[in-house]
Amino acid sequence: MKLAELFNNRKTVFSFEVFPPKRDNPIETIYNTLDALQDLKPDFISVTYGASGSLADNSTCEIASAIKHRYGIESAAHLTCVNSTKEEVTQVLKKLHDNGVENILALRGDLVPDVEPKEDFKHASELITFIRESENDFGISGACYPEGHLDSRDQIEDILNLKKKVDAGAQHLISQLFFDNNLFYDFLDKARIAGINVPIEAGIMPVVNKKQIERMVSLCGASLPAKFTKMMSRYETRPEAMRDAGIAYAVNQIVDLVSQGVDGVHLYTMNNPYIAKRISESVKSLF
Ligand code: FAD
Repeated sequence: MKLAELFNNRKTVFSFEVFPPKRDNPIETIYNTLDALQDLKPDFISVTYGASGSLADNSTCEIASAIKHRYGIESAAHLTCVNSTKEEVTQVLKKLHDNGVENILALRGDLVPDVEPKEDFKHASELITFIRESENDFGISGACYPEGHLDSRDQIEDILNLKKKVDAGAQHLISQLFFDNNLFYDFLDKARIAGINVPIEAGIMPVVNKKQIERMVSLCGASLPAKFTKMMSRYETRPEAMRDAGIAYAVNQIVDLVSQGVDGVHLYTMNNPYIAKRISESVKSLF
């Protein structure tokens, strides 16, 4: 099933994101995570793609295929393009198709320090056009940024570029993490005014420790509301309290988002089924 079809029945979609195990860890570790996530019955699970863009480094396809065929949950494979040639992307598309993966989250990817980007793709919209024109029929999703992407001059420029991504063929968008729902609502209003009419899922990341969130925020530029930083400062030396406060903060965000009628919520699980379970159990009757 194409992900966009999940939004047709007016139910709020609840989805998860996982990442492949690090290179030194066996692939089986992700299956232990998925065994636990399966019971939470998400509408789909997406699998991230290594920033290097190297086919050899990536077990994304294998995991996305297992989610669909072994666990019976719809899946999406993330795919980056800035460090790949058209031939390499064609190989990945063939592999995804051969393994029965129907959905792709098409991304530019981050520029890797000391690695010269390849010339074939500059923006996700070019990858989206390339996928659409390929011989296989994939559901195509894209990324969006409630606070604007760090490379953009301002939010308006970023939203106009987002419109190009949708015009190129993205049928559904998943947002970058954010900690202030009002920023997401403001972004939604502007995106709709700009004529972006595809479903937009809100990306929610539960904070489990202060270092993790500071690293994330330095990479993606999400702003931290005062009540959030106060929470982190108060509990940073008490891991269990920090975890519980982080779960409660994410639950509050989700309750508000679903009450406001958002299209969907995408939980960045960080491959942590315990946290995903605590959050899912708190909000499952809302979806
Ligand atoms: P683009 O849509 O190409 O946008 C990048 C910048 O270029 C923006 O500033 C945009 O405004 C501008 N732009 C876009 N189109 C045009 C245009 N036509 N002309 C001029 N400017 C333009 N990274 C990974 O490596 N692996 C992953 O699995 C992964 N998963 C992600 C999942 C989500 C939900 C999100 C939000 C991000 C993910 N990322 C992942 C990070 C992503 O690769 C980076 O944020 C990257 O820097 C931008 O990717 P993009 O697809 O949004 O790029």
